[in-house]
Amino acid sequence: MFARHALARVTAFSLRYSAKRCDCGIIPKLMIQVHTEVCGPLGNNVYLLWDESTREAALIDPAIGSEGFADFAESERLVPKYIFNTHGHFDHIWNNALFKREWRVPLICPRGDEAVFRHAAQAAVSWGFGTPELSPPVDVWCGDGDEFLLGAEKIQVISTPGHTPGHVSFLTTAGLFSGDVIFRGGIGRWDLPGGDGKLLLTSIRERLFNLPDSTVVFPGHGPPTTIGEEKKDNPYVGEDAVFEP
Ligand SMILES: [Zn+2]
Repeated sequence: MFARHALARVTAFSLRYSAKRCDCGIIPKLMIQVHTEVCGPLGNNVYLLWDESTREAALIDPAIGSEGFADFAESERLVPKYIFNTHGHFDHIWNNALFKREWRVPLICPRGDEAVFRHAAQAAVSWGFGTPELSPPVDVWCGDGDEFLLGAEKIQVISTPGHTPGHVSFLTTAGLFSGDVIFRGGIGRWDLPGGDGKLLLTSIRERLFNLPDSTVVFPGHGPPTTIGEEKKDNPYVGEDAVFEP
């Protein structure tokens, strides 16, 4: 479930980010590749990351309508290694079962969101989405500071609770995958079960706004942004914001 303010228009598009970094300022080096598509009726961004040298890949939040990522991974000759969830809302975990069955790789979810996962199927029904296939058992409950390797690249877990009690964001050299914590010009909802608006603002200010301004933010809904842009202009947590949840 999504933004308080900046819900994406549901338009199918696909972007491929191919960021580069400078190694010792001399030789540009390829880093994590990111393929994203807007999926399903709630406009979820689904992200597939991979390390160019090993082609090891991780899928973040296999949402409603994300089935095509299996074919994409195969066509790119990727080697699936992980399935991650930023949090347990039904729209973000909808295809956990499908990809777990297809890829047989660890399903990694945030510790603290156990109850959200347990109630996800029921929440889907109450939102009028029918009865989804239940998410399979979680293989790894992750938390702040955990790191997962994708080839030579690291995926770092940052605890960002508030939208849900256990919500995490994933930091890579390509950027931050922020789920439903912060959006371009918006923040995540805090009024759903387990949400906490003050905690959400604290997560953004103390855990995300200390990242470099140039950090690209890939949110769970809507277009990408940067930490610097949101620090400056976000109407809820930006420089001039006076908002209190
Ligand atoms: Zn959500």
